[in-house]
Amino acid sequence: MPPRKGEMPEPNIHRHTTGQEGASVNAYLVETSNGIVAVDGTLTVTDGRALRARVAALDKPLLAVLVTHAHPDHYGGIVELVGSDDVPVVATAGVDAVIRRDDPLKEEILRPMFGDEWPRERMFPSRIVSDGETVDVDGASLTVLDLGPGESPHDSIWFLGDERRTVFLGDQVYDRKHAYLADGFHDEWLGHLDRLRRELPDDARLHIGHGGPVTPSRFDDQRLYVETFLDAVRSADWSQPDNARAAVVERMTTLLPTDELLFLMELSIDPVAARLGSVQPVS
Ligand SMILES: [Zn+2]
Repeated sequence: MPPRKGEMPEPNIHRHTTGQEGASVNAYLVETSNGIVAVDGTLTVTDGRALRARVAALDKPLLAVLVTHAHPDHYGGIVELVGSDDVPVVATAGVDAVIRRDDPLKEEILRPMFGDEWPRERMFPSRIVSDGETVDVDGASLTVLDLGPGESPHDSIWFLGDERRTVFLGDQVYDRKHAYLADGFHDEWLGHLDRLRRELPDDARLHIGHGGPVTPSRFDDQRLYVETFLDAVRSADWSQPDNARAAVVERMTTLLPTDELLFLMELSIDPVAARLGSVQPVS
């Protein structure tokens, strides 16, 4: 007889955090009675293997991999995590489509940066879920909320259990680190931050992509960060592009005095300036 709800022990959540050379990204292993569900898979070969070693150390089989969003620091290492296991890699159609669409471009960008550490072949989602769908794995219920474009060209988040108190949030909020805005969906991202702030309980535990865990009060900080960045780009004097870039960095490091993931924010300045019409894109 299958155990009734409430009789299953709470899954244990293990976090694997990479070094800075792997973009300081988290992946999570949700340990159930008889197996492991991974949430995201890190960026590099080394970190994908380290994640697999964590699974081996727990001495339980990997049962599924869930993907939060379409950025390579969350899906690149999945191929090493999964190895030859026959397990589903689960994502929404939007996340899957963007990963497949953008992967050749990520290859062009990441190969020179990471060399052999960027996996030669990447593993893409193999099972598609729709918004609100629940995946039941060994007594653990994981439900996806499909957000659409936001921090990446397609974001989703996953809830463990049915109370929205344990959340795998991807990169909707960063934990006092700089953020990536280069994909240009900042308006949609601000919309998600408002929605999640409204809909999630104040004491929810947010397992995020970089740092954490945090609580929903961080949605306010992330909103301020995104708005400040947009204002900094808009108000910079783009007749002098180098000065404009320096002014944006100055403003953002005053708001958030850390260099953690600063390169992500710096990479975002020119694309967002072009998108906002501050500068003409180079043709
Ligand atoms: Zn990330």
